Amino acid sequence: MSRVILDFPTGFHSDARRAGWTVDETVRRADEALKRIKRKDILWVGPVQGGVHIKEVARSAVEMGKRPFSIYALGSPTELMEAQRFDVLVDMIVAAKKGLPHARPLHLFGAGHPAMFPFIVALGCDLFDSAAYALYARTGRYLTSDGTQELAEIEEFSCMCRICDSITPEELRHLDTPEREQLLSKHNLLACFSELHRIREAIRRGHLWELLEHRAYANPAFKKFLAKIIQHSSLLEQFTPTVKPRGISHFGEASNNRPEMVRYSVRRSRVRVERGKFVILLPGRWRRPYHEDPRNLPIVSKLANRSNVSICFYTIPFGPVPMELDETFPLAQTESFDSHDPRMYGQKAEQVAAWVKRLSPKQVFLISEGEYGATLGKELSGATSNLKVIRVQAKGSKPDRTVGSIIRRLG
Ligand SMILES: [Zn+2]
Repeated sequence: MSRVILDFPTGFHSDARRAGWTVDETVRRADEALKRIKRKDILWVGPVQGGVHIKEVARSAVEMGKRPFSIYALGSPTELMEAQRFDVLVDMIVAAKKGLPHARPLHLFGAGHPAMFPFIVALGCDLFDSAAYALYARTGRYLTSDGTQELAEIEEFSCMCRICDSITPEELRHLDTPEREQLLSKHNLLACFSELHRIREAIRRGHLWELLEHRAYANPAFKKFLAKIIQHSSLLEQFTPTVKPRGISHFGEASNNRPEMVRYSVRRSRVRVERGKFVILLPGRWRRPYHEDPRNLPIVSKLANRSNVSICFYTIPFGPVPMELDETFPLAQTESFDSHDPRMYGQKAEQVAAWVKRLSPKQVFLISEGEYGATLGKELSGATSNLKVIRVQAKGSKPDRTVGSIIRRLG
């Protein structure tokens, strides 16, 4: 059993001063309550106030976090969720999480819609509103993982829960109000549970981010939700497992900033580089690890042991992949696709060029393939005027010839 102490909710319309006062008053009441609490069989909940005033939320979280509650909760105004102001909600949750002890669960008040669950779980919330499913049912709203539907407008149920499987929308609409509400709220509750199962399973597989990206397409407001979460990607990265049971997927732009990608670019920036070598740039194709690509292997095997050569792959998901990192997680386990988007080529080529610049190479051999290779060639010659770039067209079936011509030039 859990119980919330008698707090003072900030609400939606408070100004910063009023919000500050609700924070102080809640802390005062928390101290009062903690003095009186005797029963050990109740999990006491410490509420974090501040509403939409992020600084106040942060202050409240730090203060409440110092006090020994079993569960913490963030007061989130329902108006905020109704208006789908998920951007503000993200900032509130992040501010609260930063101040609270991570080992304790966080409950998000007012969040009871299954479509929101993956996003708020990704931000570190553990518990949700337990009344929302019934409140939605009272106003004839049918919850799905993609959003809300009006019972009045549904012709067929796509859900196969025991309620939806036993009745048609038309029949449900004709039931008496109490019975209709009861059945509808049962479906709503099952939809919440089903979503929680899906999220837990996604976490086990290391695929929560994939679920977020998938969900972002259900509704433009969710796309914004994810875009806002991406701004906090480096925070999320700290709590993302370094190794996962399965590889990850790269779907394009939204995946560029997923926590694993942020981690990879940090790790890459820490790789110790030796300057003044010959740099060989090879296309990183679908075959991974990239050096095992049959079109790369003959080149890599003849050049990798030369002390004056540094090998790097130019790839779609990760941009530059120096040989040293080719076999680290999740590089070899990432599924991606080439959208042939010139903008993507441009972005990635820029990253590769920045990496090459860091190596201050003696000379660069670009094994150029396709449009990506051509874009990279342009980027390299633009990046540094005194950089010697030798372009070799990748001739799919003749890597031996390619390596031969490189070796001749290495001297
Ligand atoms: Zn159902």
